[in-house]
Amino acid sequence: SETEEVEEEVFPEEQKLLDSLEKEENRILSVKESRKLLPVYQYRDKLMKAVKENQVLIVVGETGSGKTTQLPQYLFEDGYTQGNKFQIAVTQPRRVAATSVATRVSDEMNVVLGKEVGYSIRFDDKTTPNKTIIKYMTDGMLLREFLTDSKLSAYSCIMIDEAHERTLATDILLGLLKGVLDQRKELRILISSATMNAKRFSEFFNNCPIFNIPGRRFPVDIHYTLQPEGNYISAAITTVFQIHTTQALKGDILVFLTGQEEIETTKEKIEQISAKLGSRIPQLIVTPIYANLPNEQQLAIFQKTPDNCRKVVLATNIAETSLTIDGIKYVIDSGYVKENSYVPSTGMTQLVTVACSKASTDQRAGRAGRVGPGKCFRLFTKWSYENELEQMPKAEILRTNLSNTVLLLLSLDVTDLLNFPFMDKPSISALTKSLESLYILGALDSKGKITELGKMMCEFPCEPEFAKVLHTAATHKKCIGVLQECLSIVAMLHETTSIFAGNKKEAVAAITSDIGSDHLLYLEIYNQWRDSNYSRTWCLDHKIQFKTMCRVRNVRDQLFKCCKKLKLTNIHESTSTANDNDVISRITCAFISGFPMNIVQLENAGYKTIGKSKGGISVNLHPSSVVFQNYKVNAQKPDKFILYQQLILTSKEFIRGCLPILQENWLVEMVPHMFGHLSRDKL
Ligand code: ADP
Ligand code: MG
Repeated sequence: SETEEVEEEVFPEEQKLLDSLEKEENRILSVKESRKLLPVYQYRDKLMKAVKENQVLIVVGETGSGKTTQLPQYLFEDGYTQGNKFQIAVTQPRRVAATSVATRVSDEMNVVLGKEVGYSIRFDDKTTPNKTIIKYMTDGMLLREFLTDSKLSAYSCIMIDEAHERTLATDILLGLLKGVLDQRKELRILISSATMNAKRFSEFFNNCPIFNIPGRRFPVDIHYTLQPEGNYISAAITTVFQIHTTQALKGDILVFLTGQEEIETTKEKIEQISAKLGSRIPQLIVTPIYANLPNEQQLAIFQKTPDNCRKVVLATNIAETSLTIDGIKYVIDSGYVKENSYVPSTGMTQLVTVACSKASTDQRAGRAGRVGPGKCFRLFTKWSYENELEQMPKAEILRTNLSNTVLLLLSLDVTDLLNFPFMDKPSISALTKSLESLYILGALDSKGKITELGKMMCEFPCEPEFAKVLHTAATHKKCIGVLQECLSIVAMLHETTSIFAGNKKEAVAAITSDIGSDHLLYLEIYNQWRDSNYSRTWCLDHKIQFKTMCRVRNVRDQLFKCCKKLKLTNIHESTSTANDNDVISRITCAFISGFPMNIVQLENAGYKTIGKSKGGISVNLHPSSVVFQNYKVNAQKPDKFILYQQLILTSKEFIRGCLPILQENWLVEMVPHMFGHLSRDKL
């Protein structure tokens, strides 16, 4: 017959296309089917009824039950967006979760990421106006939207996901949303949480109902170490190989560590050992996942493990609840987490590694029991679990610098801070300290009212301190013409993954031989790359990560756009007439104005923090800083003052991102109300 003839005429290429189309259709079908297999699916109708009847609903369910990926789709299917008239916002505490879940859901809905389903994270907006209906975003981004629309009227539904994490932004969002409820009766708010503190959220929202999605979970065998571990990294590595060599191959391993550097070095070590053992063991595929991992590398953790291999996922607490990785059977838990810790009396924020809470370690163990019975190896003792660990993690609002938040609230006309509905009220000393530092930055006047400069600082998509640097660079007479330079440095400082492709020292040596600070090194790298016309080859030749630099360029462009919008450009454009020393002095002055609290002073042999409180803390230069190289290796004379970007507590207190202040009078001139005493002391 005719059709047979037609079929015979199909060319091989076309057949391939047809095959792949069929495959794609099957894949979409299987995605559709797998949606129905998730625990949340059985409760779809009951859930939607509860949403209809309640303005606020708390949803509780095991990780992996389908809250994040399914609930927004249900809301869309039930017409809550009225076509594309309204949007559904879903907040996530972490960037990685926002982008990866958006990718997954766009796939499930068979649409292009960035169209109907998109994400919005700082410096990276993948949404389309008038098209995007489901928008995954960081909690911080939704918070910023209050600045332009205090009723969030673009959204008909807002899902505050992972609320149990109690990030600062989530807590503030909950407080602000509470105020919107009466003004927008039709608005629906879903608060999802994986753990047991659901009751607190319910109480916060006038005892609104809690919807429980019963999950499936297999038993997990828990093993402890008999002695406290001196070094959890080597203990973790040993455990990985013990599991790999003694347990049946089916079943991947998830290791909880604390941060990027630790994860990357652990990955290297596992790969080295693996290479040495060669074909004596089955192949190990090591995939890292942490908050700052570039998008393109994130997807590796979700890829199916090939036969005859075992996957080892090295993760931070991001894999506790916000990402679900299928196929995990073994969990290795270091028992630690990296947290911000803020001391109001000194005004300093430190990044510290602390023991995690019981609730966290229980969550971690649970990751092993999703697909079948699992095992969890805790690298600490049972005694420690029972007697030393806190019940719950401490809400971020109680352990962080509140300056940014206070500035944001003030610009939203929330002036009565003490009566703002905080789930956990920050201490008065923390609030006072943040008002004080905002005053020093010039964001508040002496009566505590927000200034024009303060409002401007809120407009920037970066911390107020960096905004102040840029503002000063554009307007201050001591900083004439260094806005472009400061933009590059600020953008480079925003990059949290390494810009170096290999050994940093070698890379630096290839770029410059004599550089006085980390800030100027960043500037030099950016300028050389720009002069190469942003070339990939230059990056390859100089062992610099090309993709990272492209992100820096994007951040820089957005900051520059913001400067233009605020008319902070073209004031003094060119630095061509200035000599190098002038440029250094101007850049330094701009940074002093933004970070007057981040300054350490040389005392006897070492540096100590300064500030009002007597007896500062001793700090060490981080060995990765070029300033460390200059002083310790090249034996240059240490400068009396250094500005730093980061204070980290690991084995010792380290400062990173160091900029020596070559002349003391710069401090007095840029921040007289803080450093005035320096000139007086001399007299
Ligand atoms: P919950 O929010 O309740 O923890 P999710 O909605 O995140 O659950 O996940 C539901 C299921 O969707 C997971 O069990 C997993 O199988 C699948 N899934 C989620 N994200 C991804 C992804 N990025 N890639 C592949 N599968 C995913
Ligand atoms: Mg989730």
